[in-house]
This record gives sequence, C-alpha cells and structure tokens, in this order.
Amino acid sequence: MSMFHSVKRFLLWDIIKGMALTFSYMFKRRVTINYPFEKGPIGPRFRGEHALRRYPNGEERCIACKLCEAICPAQAITIEAEPREDGSRRTTRYDIDMIKCIYCGLCQEACPVDAIVEGPNFEYATLTREELYYNKEKLLANGDRWEPEIAANMTKDAPYR
Ligand code: SF4
Ligand code: SF4
Repeated sequence: MSMFHSVKRFLLWDIIKGMALTFSYMFKRRVTINYPFEKGPIGPRFRGEHALRRYPNGEERCIACKLCEAICPAQAITIEAEPREDGSRRTTRYDIDMIKCIYCGLCQEACPVDAIVEGPNFEYATLTREELYYNKEKLLANGDRWEPEIAANMTKDAPYR
C-alpha cells in the first residue's frame, strides 16, 4: 500500500471517530446554557451589584453610622449625614464608585442594620464610566427592585453567619 493510501485511510478513520463522538453528545445532557435567555444558579452569598435596603414600612435602614465607609479597602464609599427633625440620623449623600469597588463584601459585613448589601444582580454593565458612579437614589432603587431576592438570600445564609 502506498504512503498516500495509508494517510487517506487514517484520515477517514479519524473523521468517522470524530463524527461518532459528535453524535454521541447529541444524546447527553447539555453542559452549556443559552445565556442571556437562560441563567445559571447563583449562591446566596453571591456578591453582585450593591443596593441600599428599606424596612417594610419604607423607611431607610441606613443609620449613617459610616462603618461601611470606614471599612471599605478601596475607599469607594462616600457618605454625608445630618440629623432629621425627629432627631434620627440619616444620610444626605451615599455614593459608591463602582469602578473602585473590589467586591470584597466588607461593607455588607460591617453594616449593623443590613442596609448596604451586594445583591444578586450581575447584569449592570454600562457604556460609560459615569453610569458606574452610584448615588443614594440609584442604590435605594436597586434595593426596592431586588428586595425579595436579597431577603430570601439573607434568610438562607443566616444559619452560617
Ligand atoms: S464591596 Fe468592598 S470595595 Fe466594594 S464598596 Fe463594599 S467594602 Fe468597598
Ligand atoms: S449602610 Fe450600614 S454601615 Fe453603612 S452607614 Fe449605613 S448603617 Fe452604617
């Protein structure tokens, strides 16, 4: 048998093996998902986009203690606060520079009232840097939007905290 025929025979055999392997996977469970139409599961401790939470009566949880600002290793949080007329202390400014943030979760760990959290949202890519400078309004809106998921995740994680 000539060299040419041997090479041809091996190539044909490899093609048959390759096709058989391809067809065998048609009957196995898929290991990929059709993102963004399908999404994989995420754990209750997933550290995604930040949110400021409210109590069920609508009152802000944050008491402007500034522990999150102090502990943030990236110095991404800026808070200003004033006492209200009723004597309670609330923030007048709560900014997070999401470009500086390293998603360490320390702000959430430090917060005594579970106000600042890293929620389950991971789809917040933007076209401009400016959109990643979050203010209090944006963070509270995130909290309002994700509260059911955030509360459920915190309940699941509570036995381990
Ligand atoms: S996750 Fe870490 S880096 Fe980001 S704002 Fe919180 S403390 Fe700062
Ligand atoms: S979010 Fe929590 S830790 Fe940060 S200032 Fe408000 S109450 Fe304090």
